[in-house]
Parts: sequence; structure tokens; C-alpha cells
Amino acid sequence: MGIVSVCKVPEYRQDLLDAAVERHFEHVRADELIKPGMRVLLKPNLVRGCKPDTAVTTRAELLLAIIRKLRRMGITDIVVADSPGGLYTPAMLASIYSVSGLKALAGEAELNYNVGWKQVFCPEGFENRTFNIIEPILEADAVINVAKLKTHSMTMLSAGVKNLFGSVPGLQKPELHYRHPELEGFSNMLCELAKFVAPAITVLDAIDCMEGNGPTGGTVRHMGLTMAARNAFEQDAYASSLIGLKPENVAMLRIARERGWYHPAELTLMGDAAEPANPPFVLPDSAGVDFTGRLPGFMRGPASGFLKRVFRTLPRLDKAKCIGCGKCAESCPPHIIKIVNRKAQFTAKGCISCFCCQEMCPAHAIEVRRMLKL
Ligand code: SF4
Ligand code: SF4
Repeated sequence: MGIVSVCKVPEYRQDLLDAAVERHFEHVRADELIKPGMRVLLKPNLVRGCKPDTAVTTRAELLLAIIRKLRRMGITDIVVADSPGGLYTPAMLASIYSVSGLKALAGEAELNYNVGWKQVFCPEGFENRTFNIIEPILEADAVINVAKLKTHSMTMLSAGVKNLFGSVPGLQKPELHYRHPELEGFSNMLCELAKFVAPAITVLDAIDCMEGNGPTGGTVRHMGLTMAARNAFEQDAYASSLIGLKPENVAMLRIARERGWYHPAELTLMGDAAEPANPPFVLPDSAGVDFTGRLPGFMRGPASGFLKRVFRTLPRLDKAKCIGCGKCAESCPPHIIKIVNRKAQFTAKGCISCFCCQEMCPAHAIEVRRMLKL
């Protein structure tokens, strides 16, 4: 039976977070999974260098509460590691730790600067035969996935499952987008990656979340919750329904359910009763093209196919905001963005609508537009 532990935590106060993590670990019986002598890795969501109050990255206070709990459990070997978007170098990691506030954890746990990675082979039954995974994850005895609750322009939801995309080193992430240009294939890849990394526990920072054009360009939405579960799919399905996004409309969750990796009927909630977001979270602009979730079940498939044939969503540049930094071009899987006269220049041909450019743009200069296919 799957357990999702929920705690009301109205603000990022250390004593409240310490108490919440204590309860979460008891609910999911963390002591059965994590034992003294293990090397335990905390996997935050760092995306890119954003300040803590922007709700883009996992907050250092939550990571600290987990580190303190692990110490109380007798764990001494604790590392914090993620591969954000963009270049994966020690200098880039140092910059992101500093901006996101994680640098404050340096005296509490090891902050990873090892940018090595290895190719690993996947179990039988996976469509993805291999993944390239950052070394600290492969070297850990247990991974605690510490995600942030956000809407996402491509996958609609960014939480526990999507957070594990940061197991893939830096600019190899756009290569995976290129190999899986359709949402279905990309979501299937994310599910297999999550199963491969197999975190012992997934903890969700849902105190200050993001709605709209997440994972970096949306607006802060307060929920005042933290969650924890052994099964990231179950936790994401519950979190998704809390923000007004039906799990069956999130491709990753639908695929995971179809593959038998979580069973909605078996979900048990422990802890505090949480109120669903009212009004529901604002969805990304890219979601506007697909209204099929509101149709009766028998009409969704044909309607969705029709929309895909008729419309496409593309990034649109707000030239006035563009600072010409080139982060979008660096992360564009098919390399269709050029920097000309210190401004980004897009070509629609070849665009796979992954919105990596929007995710990595520090100036919020990229919007999403819907257009008819000609
Ligand atoms: S232009 Fe943006 S949305 Fe299109 S493929 Fe490149 S990164 Fe993805
Ligand atoms: S669109 Fe954004 S990421 Fe691209 S060059 Fe302009 S400011 Fe940088």
C-alpha cells in the first residue's frame, strides 16, 4: 500500500521544517530504508541559478531539516548533488549553490563538485537501453529526492518524477529531448529514469510553489505543505490533483499507471488534511492548446489527435527583454537558436516545442504562442 505523508508547514521556518521531516520519516518508515554506514545523497531541484524566493529551486531550509534528521539517525556521509540545466562544471555548480542559498549547507553536508558521469545499462523491459547518470548518484547507497512543486511548460507538472531528470549530466539533457521530441516518448523516458534512479524517499517542497509558465518563468503560489513518499509517482499524482491538474492529463503519470508503477486506488494519506488549491493552479500557456481534459473520456483521444494536427506551440521572443546571454541557444536540442546582434533569433523549422529555451532564459524573454500548422 502506497503512503503519501502530508504536513502543513506555513513558512520556511527551521523548527517547523524539522518537525515536518520528523513526521514524514516516521510515516514512510524511513529507518527501514536508510541505515547508518550508508552514503546518502539528497537530490534537490536546482534548474539554474535562481534566488530562493522565486520558488524555482528546492529550499535550503528543507534540505537542512532532512540533513539534521539523517544525522539523528546516525548517518554521517551525506552529499547534496544535482545536475542543473546548462553547463555542468564545478564553477557553474558553485554559482548555483550560491544564488539558490544552498551554499549555507556547506558546513552541514558535502556539496557535490564532481561533474563525472557514467553510462549505465537499464533493466529488461525498458525502452531506454542506457542512461548517462552523474557519478554521485551512482555512488550513493540511497537517494532522497527533494523536489519542488511547479507547473511545467512541456510536462505540465514538475515534482518528484521530473526532478530526477537532473540525474542526467548538464547539456546531455537537451540530447534526450532531441531523442524523444514527442511528449509521450519524453514522458516515458522520464518514468524509466525515475524507476532506474529509484529514490528511497521523495520529499516535496510545496510551501511556496510555482504556477503558470514553470519551471522557471511562472509566479509564486503559496500552498504551505511538504510531502513525502517512497513512490514518487504516487506522491506526484496526489500533488497533481491538489493543484487542480488531473493525473490522467499528465503524460508521465498516465504512463506510470499504465505500466503498473503506481496504483491510485491503493494510496493512503497520512499526516495533515490538505485543502486542494482554490482556484486551481494557473497552467502554462502551452497547455491552452489542449482542452481535451475537459471533454468526456471517449472524445479525448480523437480531439487531442485533431488538435495536434491543426495547432502547434512555439516559443516567441520578447526582443526588448532579451539580454543576448545565449543560454537558450546552449540548451536548444535541435540547435535552431542563434544569437545575432546580442539578441536571440529563432527559426520555427525544427522546433520540438520542448521549451528548454524558456526554462533556461534568465530574463523571462520567451513566451509561448499557439499557431495553426500550415
Ligand atoms: S526553440 Fe525552444 S522550444 Fe524549440 S526546440 Fe529549441 S529549446 Fe525547444
Ligand atoms: S532569449 Fe533569454 S536566454 Fe536567450 S539570449 Fe535572450 S535573454 Fe538569453
